[in-house]
Amino acid sequence: MRTLAMIISMATLIDYIEAQQALEKEAKELMPYDPKECTFSIGPLRQDLYACLSCYRKTGQLNSVCYACSIKCHASHDLVELFTKRNRTCDCGTTRVDGPCFVRYPKWNNLDVKDYSPDIPDSSNKYSHNFEGRFCECDMPYNPLSDSNMIQCTLGVACDEDWYHEECIMGYTPTTVDRRPTGNGVDKLNDLDEPGMDAESDLRNKTVEKNESTISDDEISGNLLPLEGFPSLETFETIICWKCYNKCPEVKVIESLLECDFVEHIPNRQMQGSEEPLRKKLKGDYTKTIFLKSNYKEKLKAYMNDNPETKLGKFLMKYPFLYEEDPVYRPELDEDDTSSVFELGVQKLNSVPADQAAKGLAAYSQIKSKLTEFLKPFAETGKIVTEDEVKAFFTNIKKS
Ligand SMILES: [Zn+2]
Ligand SMILES: [Zn+2]
Ligand SMILES: [Zn+2]
Ligand SMILES: [Zn+2]
Ligand SMILES: [Zn+2]
Repeated sequence: MRTLAMIISMATLIDYIEAQQALEKEAKELMPYDPKECTFSIGPLRQDLYACLSCYRKTGQLNSVCYACSIKCHASHDLVELFTKRNRTCDCGTTRVDGPCFVRYPKWNNLDVKDYSPDIPDSSNKYSHNFEGRFCECDMPYNPLSDSNMIQCTLGVACDEDWYHEECIMGYTPTTVDRRPTGNGVDKLNDLDEPGMDAESDLRNKTVEKNESTISDDEISGNLLPLEGFPSLETFETIICWKCYNKCPEVKVIESLLECDFVEHIPNRQMQGSEEPLRKKLKGDYTKTIFLKSNYKEKLKAYMNDNPETKLGKFLMKYPFLYEEDPVYRPELDEDDTSSVFELGVQKLNSVPADQAAKGLAAYSQIKSKLTEFLKPFAETGKIVTEDEVKAFFTNIKKS
């Protein structure tokens, strides 16, 4: 209770309540689901996954853990959000990660974890470069602040449901394509960025340097210019990438059946106006990424019902997610106002550099309802709580 007393002396309790509510809201937004169950025992699922790089560094084995385990077992580790993949079993508590699963075996919260014996991982799990925190053809970590749109391949036969930049789908190197709004409609296409540089600060530097731009900060953080030759996001639901297209001849049949938009993947493609390297292949020889419209499942299902014996019919039978509902397994929403998610949120926020208030909140949450009751009259009148009143309150709590 010492931390709490410290905090109380830092601020009035009314401020504290407000801070607490803000933190609680933030925790809820980060983690809307109840993390009470690990999905390990359910087996392979389409689910949200998190690759633990800390555990990878310790065990030398790629891994991914479920939502609950990302919060309760690996909150202080270096996690990469993988979003969803199909047919994956949680690796927490197996030989692939370091340490027991505290969700499945809560007893290890109170015992020496050196003594636990790990579970056997699901041998049907697959691991791509995503599990090392890298994505796309460019093999880069995802940076939501500077990256252009990334789109996940829905088939995944060749790419393991990888995510791709629009530029990389077309064959450009992402950093060589300038999609910043210029205000005068002239693209500075050959104005290449250094790979890995933060796009935003880079743009700021250039703006100052060249003193020719009228771009405001608002515009910088706004949308990028559309990529010429790339279908706009509203026109399609999902994609099948050029690698999967190349691997499965049936995808070509889907393409013509559904009259899909497509873009060719031309490696080392250059922007128009740049010096074009001699193409070894003719246009039409390149493999393509195809774009599936929102009604693609209905159409494939109808085809499947009418033509089950065709090559495509058999292909669809093998990959039923192409024409059937393919729900993502998600834990129950956490509706409970005073639930553990709040405390776990505190834990999660603590793994980020946290201030003392956040730490104190964990203790605070245990006596939250009593304290709220105690504070209500003060909050209503705006009166500041004195130290003596607070001391009296905690003395009573200890007694009760
Ligand atoms: Zn798990
Ligand atoms: Zn871990
Ligand atoms: Zn776990
Ligand atoms: Zn890329
Ligand atoms: Zn693919």
